[in-house]
Amino acid sequence: MSKLLVGSATDVGLVRSNNQDQLLVADGLYAVADGMGGHAAGEVASATAVRALEAAFEASDERSADALRNAVMAANRAVWEQAQAHRGMHGMGTTLVALAVVERQDSTRALAIAHIGDSRAYLYRQGELTQLTVDHSYVQELIDDGQISQAQAAVHPQRHVLTRALGVEPVVDVDLIPLEPRHGDRYLLCSDGLPREVSDEEIAGVLGSEQDPSTAANKLVELAISHGGSDNITVVVVDLLANGAGGGVITMPASSRTAATLPLNIEDKEGSGDRATGPPLAGHQPSGALAVAAPPRPRRPRPASAHPYELRQRPTLFTWRLASFVAAICVLVGGCIGALAWYARSTYFVTISRGKIAIFQGRPGGVLWFGPTLAERTPYTASSVLPYRMVQLRSGQVEPSLSQARTFIRNLIAEKVEADNAVPASARGAPRRARSSSSKAKVPKQGAKAAPPTTAAPPKTSASRVKPVATSASTTTTKQGGTAP
Ligand code: MN
Repeated sequence: MSKLLVGSATDVGLVRSNNQDQLLVADGLYAVADGMGGHAAGEVASATAVRALEAAFEASDERSADALRNAVMAANRAVWEQAQAHRGMHGMGTTLVALAVVERQDSTRALAIAHIGDSRAYLYRQGELTQLTVDHSYVQELIDDGQISQAQAAVHPQRHVLTRALGVEPVVDVDLIPLEPRHGDRYLLCSDGLPREVSDEEIAGVLGSEQDPSTAANKLVELAISHGGSDNITVVVVDLLANGAGGGVITMPASSRTAATLPLNIEDKEGSGDRATGPPLAGHQPSGALAVAAPPRPRRPRPASAHPYELRQRPTLFTWRLASFVAAICVLVGGCIGALAWYARSTYFVTISRGKIAIFQGRPGGVLWFGPTLAERTPYTASSVLPYRMVQLRSGQVEPSLSQARTFIRNLIAEKVEADNAVPASARGAPRRARSSSSKAKVPKQGAKAAPPTTAAPPKTSASRVKPVATSASTTTTKQGGTAP
């Protein structure tokens, strides 16, 4: 026979204005949740999760490890649905670490841990502290990649960023850890407010020296506060004791399902900023177990310099959804730049450059950073074409291809030559006009390609038409930079 002895404590800390952590000490089920979200949403998320977890686990046919996982998924759905239903709670979520007494296939009893986020479970066994959970956090990924050390992670600016949280998506991946419990084991569940302030050595020191789980829980919270208390701190200590002689396989008494009321509504639920300790827990443990509620601690004055609204929220939640969104934006911006480059460089134009008629690739005046480049320079000068064509050439006559640009120049030259041939050096009046206009009619191609200045699309118009596209492309880049974590 074994018995469980449980102690718990929670505190708002020295900096935050409200406690978004929740703890659960129920019938063979213990949990810590650390909510996130603006205003009261964080508190709602953690409270909803813990309540739904307990209800689902209670309702399950058999108390297996799978049932624990299903209960966590039910809690996820409950938080997600609440977030969808209330505009102000959109995006809220919570961490969750839960320890449960579970039945194995052979009807023996064991323990299992389910976890999401950066709340942790530790095992203290024979003087040694082992972290059982691996944080679902950005810095943990950096540690796994070997990019930073544990020490660097502790001070990393993005140490609050989670890679997985409960309630932010309709379905969540739950880490389930089966345990081989032994008599004398001491399990610690805590929110990140504890390890952020208290080292593993100090935690092990307290767990090793304080026999009573309730005293140990309070001591750990006190220690975190004395080290700065920058976040809410929540601790649950669960001791597995032999109820008589013998060890080995643990045969825990069947849990009494008499527990009815939930010990969730702790005193400072309405966020007045008061400190509160764990709720009274009697009647929620398997028979033989003893739970001791932490006595309320005196209030401490809050430092005047704190900016509670700023600090009580976790920074952005890093998700793969965000990463893929950023990637999509990059592809979009890249596509816009590509299209712009194609637009800017796909055409040619004929103009006067350094006194000669020349063909440039690009658009007159360029498009943003895509300037035109010289494709071909001809030996012809301004005197090789009719004077009125100069207006057209100075602004640049756009042609869709190099060969069409060449044709346009040939036509200009031909036009001038014909005009010169038709009109003798001694200028005449009316006949010249008639002939000159008839000579123009002989080059219909030129008419089609090189429209007179009045009807030709002014190249500047096309350039300015492009600019808004380019501007919106660069705006998107800025936005992307702004939203990226
Ligand atoms: Mn926290």
